[in-house]
Amino acid sequence: MSKFADKERHHLFIEPQSMDNTECYINGLSTSLPPEVQREMIHSVVGMENAKIVRFGYAIEYDFVDPRELRHTLETKKISGLYCAGQINGTTGYEEAAAQGIMAGINAGLSLQGKEPLILGRDEAYIGVLIDDLVTKGTNEPYRMFTSRAEYRLLLREESADTRLGKYGHALGLIDDKEYERIKLKDEQIKYGAQLLEDTKFTPNKEFNALLESMDEQPLKDVSTAQQLIARKSFDVQKMLKIVPELEKFDEYIKEEILVEGKYARYIDKQSDEIRRMKKYLKINIPEGFDFTIVSGLSKEVQEKLKSFAPPTLQAAMNISGITPAAIEILHIYIKIAKRDAQ
Ligand SMILES: Cc1cc2nc3c(=O)[nH]c(=O)nc-3n(C[C@H](O)[C@H](O)[C@H](O)COP(=O)(O)OP(=O)(O)OC[C@H]3O[C@@H](n4cnc5c(N)ncnc54)[C@H](O)[C@@H]3O)c2cc1C
Repeated sequence: MSKFADKERHHLFIEPQSMDNTECYINGLSTSLPPEVQREMIHSVVGMENAKIVRFGYAIEYDFVDPRELRHTLETKKISGLYCAGQINGTTGYEEAAAQGIMAGINAGLSLQGKEPLILGRDEAYIGVLIDDLVTKGTNEPYRMFTSRAEYRLLLREESADTRLGKYGHALGLIDDKEYERIKLKDEQIKYGAQLLEDTKFTPNKEFNALLESMDEQPLKDVSTAQQLIARKSFDVQKMLKIVPELEKFDEYIKEEILVEGKYARYIDKQSDEIRRMKKYLKINIPEGFDFTIVSGLSKEVQEKLKSFAPPTLQAAMNISGITPAAIEILHIYIKIAKRDAQ
């Protein structure tokens, strides 16, 4: 099989390994082809005709359990009490293995205690996306947790991990009461600050515009909320405090978080709208015999996948591994046109 046969070029990064020698790492050339082929490939690159290869590339092969054989708890469906985590489930990567390891361990423990399992949602954690993808879609290539796989990624920011997941950590005994109180307070303060930004309105009067001008900011033309103002790229914490001094009382990291939340707010709203729209799209039928190859904007690989699975609905298309929400959006437009033309 020839991958990317349609491509005429491929980008390689030559990374020097040391100041003391001329050894370089070729980033972007992942290959497990025989040494002779690798040598020929390297020598075919202009400027590397005489390069000496110090170490050849290689690949690791391993068997895995079809993760669709697992429940969301990572317990196998066939053997109760047996949990699988990591590479054995078709993933690759340290974080992927660790994330599944902790979830399988937690759920095995909860099950032994006769307690409800812990299943994280796709809108709560990357772990939720990872496990849901694996157990519902399976995978035919080593799965990595790319951020692009998470449709709610604006909510899954690292600085909000404690406020998103602290309640579970506390219930499981992983977070003590004192730490949990801190997390709850942080959450309350950020929510309060975000609401304050939304509720505080400014009119474009002389006085306020003079304040903006003193901060090198463009004057206001229309009534605007503090949230709209801080969405400006140039707005930092100091400027935010000048227009909403009430936020001064919070700790530095809370102020920073309120600013970030405020800056993201309209994007999060937009994302929520997209998710609602997407949920509606997913019910749409794909006409029988629909030609996926005409959908420009989809990679050849994705077109081929859709052709071979021939999903009857957009929901079924979405369930195919590697089909992203963005691909569904494009597909939806083409299906709409095809249906209109057929009328
Ligand atoms: C060369 C290389 C480079 C890599 N680089 C990166 C990287 O830069 N970043 C990254 O994120 N990932 C990287 N990976 C991938 C990453 O290492 C693995 O995906 C990850 O370690 C898998 O963890 P795991 O716990 O699922 O499996 P493993 O770490 O393989 O653990 C499985 C364990 O089970 C033991 N075992 C097997 N059979 C038995 C048995 N019958 N009885 C008892 N014990 C048994 C094994 O000895 C092993 O200790 C790399 C992998 C390789 C090979």
